Amino acid sequence: MKFFEKILNYLLPPHCPICEKQILDSGAVCGECFGKLDFIPNSVCQFCGKPLPYKEAKVCASCLKKPPLYTCARSVLKYNEISKAIILPFKHADAVELAPLLSQWMNSRYSDLIITSDCLIPVPLHTKRLFKRKYNQSALLAKNLAKIHHKSYLPRVLRRTKNTQSQGHMNANKRQENIKNAFQVSNSQQIKNKNVLIIDDVLTTGATVNECTKVLLKAGAKQVNVLTLARVIKE
Ligand SMILES: [Zn+2]
Ligand SMILES: [Zn+2]
Repeated sequence: MKFFEKILNYLLPPHCPICEKQILDSGAVCGECFGKLDFIPNSVCQFCGKPLPYKEAKVCASCLKKPPLYTCARSVLKYNEISKAIILPFKHADAVELAPLLSQWMNSRYSDLIITSDCLIPVPLHTKRLFKRKYNQSALLAKNLAKIHHKSYLPRVLRRTKNTQSQGHMNANKRQENIKNAFQVSNSQQIKNKNVLIIDDVLTTGATVNECTKVLLKAGAKQVNVLTLARVIKE
């Protein structure tokens, strides 16, 4: 630990961002909270990353019915009460200092997905929403991950041109309708024939990242994969 960091830790002891208990090192969660986090197991749908009940199965029922446009989506955590306790402050309450820790979790689980990509693109916010929130949490994750592996970080290629309604309480069909034609690619040269990795904080139905994939492929991307920190899992 650097000298300056030691002094800072003495003056302002770091706290676990989930339970607020005092911890030794900043930029971490306490052992107890880490143990409670629900990491998604390895047996998942090869397309959308949904956990599957049987190891032998390879594709979930909804991807079997209609496969997504992206090649594969993977998420690190189940989105539940405990992961929400760290994701919501990161998303809405200026807890930007959590970005290195959260991207570290994504990287340690799915570094192969980053290594095989040419560039990382965050799911963009509409400028109106960005102005209100001051920052885009997915862009912070993408920037950190791109830096770790020296990949291109392209936050301006994909633009959100439609200020969509919040999708919190919408079902899958409504979400799909709401997000339709919400994105545009502004500089297609940067992604032509490239393996693109979309980065987002939470995957819910996959409608948003599927719509992003649609415009990226149309603009000439060779392949699109998705990596998110967490995923909503309906049992
Ligand atoms: Zn804790
Ligand atoms: Zn699936």
